[in-house]
Amino acid sequence: MALDRLFGRKSSVDVVDASVVTQVDMPAASEPPVAESSIIVATATDTGCIRELNEDAVQVVRDNNESSSHGLLAVVCDGMGGHAAGEVASRIAIDTIAREWRATSDPAVSLRQAVLAANRAILAVSATNRGYAGMGTTVIAVIIREGMAWCAHVGDSRCYLLRDNQLFLMTEDHSAVMELVKRGHITADAARAHPDKNVISRALGARRDVDVTVWPRPFRVRSGDHFLLCSDGLYDVVSDERMREILSSYEPDEACEQLIANARANGAPDNVTVAILAAPSVKSQNEVQREVGITRAVGMPVVSSAPAAEDVA
Ligand code: CA
Repeated sequence: MALDRLFGRKSSVDVVDASVVTQVDMPAASEPPVAESSIIVATATDTGCIRELNEDAVQVVRDNNESSSHGLLAVVCDGMGGHAAGEVASRIAIDTIAREWRATSDPAVSLRQAVLAANRAILAVSATNRGYAGMGTTVIAVIIREGMAWCAHVGDSRCYLLRDNQLFLMTEDHSAVMELVKRGHITADAARAHPDKNVISRALGARRDVDVTVWPRPFRVRSGDHFLLCSDGLYDVVSDERMREILSSYEPDEACEQLIANARANGAPDNVTVAILAAPSVKSQNEVQREVGITRAVGMPVVSSAPAAEDVA
């Protein structure tokens, strides 16, 4: 399983394995779990500067069932295949996953099952329609629920995490070029210019027994975390450093627009799609109390105005 090991070479982005992060990311005891209802979501997709069609697709679904919410789902798919078939494949994948992601009480199980169902649905359509034969799509999907995140992917669409102003790559592309990066043969920057950079080793729609990579365990979300899901049309032309700057400088809606604008400014030869899930940066009550010099508990909510004199030690 690809995520069982660290990348062989450190790139300009801090590349980490989700299981390693899980061991070091325990939040301060004062921080309550991030509620998925507080997560700010933004998406954008663009045909780019060269292509005539946009074969990417993106969707976010919130489960608003108050008694037993399954949380929040975000999916990005990058379709491929001639004569608009890529559009069909990515749309089938998104629709199937959006329908199936709540099938069980375990998000990891549901996510894997939903992606496998999407694979079957694409194969079924391509088997019965000659025009769609050979179509396929990548998928990157994240569920956030009760302060934890789950992720599944196939292909080279990615999940990044911005935390404490650092950008982490949270998925390993299923591609020959990523194998070269992992083995230390080429750098992540060189991979961007590699002639085979668009050759992926796994896709939905290619074979019945597709191998879905799911994070080995759920990942604890902290306030201030920003997850970025994207297609290769973004990271092929926008540097890690620029992505980091944009994610840390703008609100999610504006950040999506800026990411697209940067890709277009760099020629955007491919479709570009982004989804941002941002956990608001809420200071814990303890932190606020420390900052204003309060040394004993006061009632919620804590406000930023000066506390009453008797509340200050
Ligand atoms: Ca693409």
